Amino acid sequence: MAAGKLIVFSAPSGSGKTTLVRHLLAQDLPLGFSISATSRTPRGQEQDGQDYYFLSAEDFRSQIAADAFLEYEEVYAGTYYGTLQSEVERLWAAGKHVLFDIDVVGGLRIKEKFPEQTLAVFVQPPSVEILEQRLRARGTESEEKIQQRLAKSTQELSYAPQFDRVIVNDNLAQAQQEVVALIASFIAS
Ligand code: 5GP
Repeated sequence: MAAGKLIVFSAPSGSGKTTLVRHLLAQDLPLGFSISATSRTPRGQEQDGQDYYFLSAEDFRSQIAADAFLEYEEVYAGTYYGTLQSEVERLWAAGKHVLFDIDVVGGLRIKEKFPEQTLAVFVQPPSVEILEQRLRARGTESEEKIQQRLAKSTQELSYAPQFDRVIVNDNLAQAQQEVVALIASFIAS
């Protein structure tokens, strides 16, 4: 497959999108996960080259200068996230369609660059209150980081109408079924 399809999952942090993406990857579908690069430090059990390519801010900026990113963003002040062109090429060369778990602006940028090949899915949490509960239950971040994420989430919710599909994640089993059917049919189309 010289150039496969691109499937973008974007959502406010804590909407359950990563759970849905993992569920999709566990199916027997020709999908490969796009490992993003970031300048943030690893959280919990995260591994370099598996969850993210962890780069220093300086290395990240050199890659920007070398035009190595398909899209990148300073998602939080001083913290960069981006998709390396080489990552998409690696997955396409392996015969896979590429699955992205990225921020809403990055997701829409990919859709804009590859309009024909991309399906952009927005995972919507049932409410901002539930989002806050989920973020706190995760217990991995400081109060300041939680507040930062909530402010960003509220703003991100306004992007939903620009996506091809919106999945409301209030019932996980149902949302899982919905995304598998959606992606299987997109791949087959
Ligand atoms: P986290 O720090 O929780 O792993 O991710 C923070 C945010 O950065 C999330 O909204 C996540 O989707 C986004 N993100 C992860 N990878 C990328 C990427 O490659 N590009 C962009 N634009 N955002 C990303």
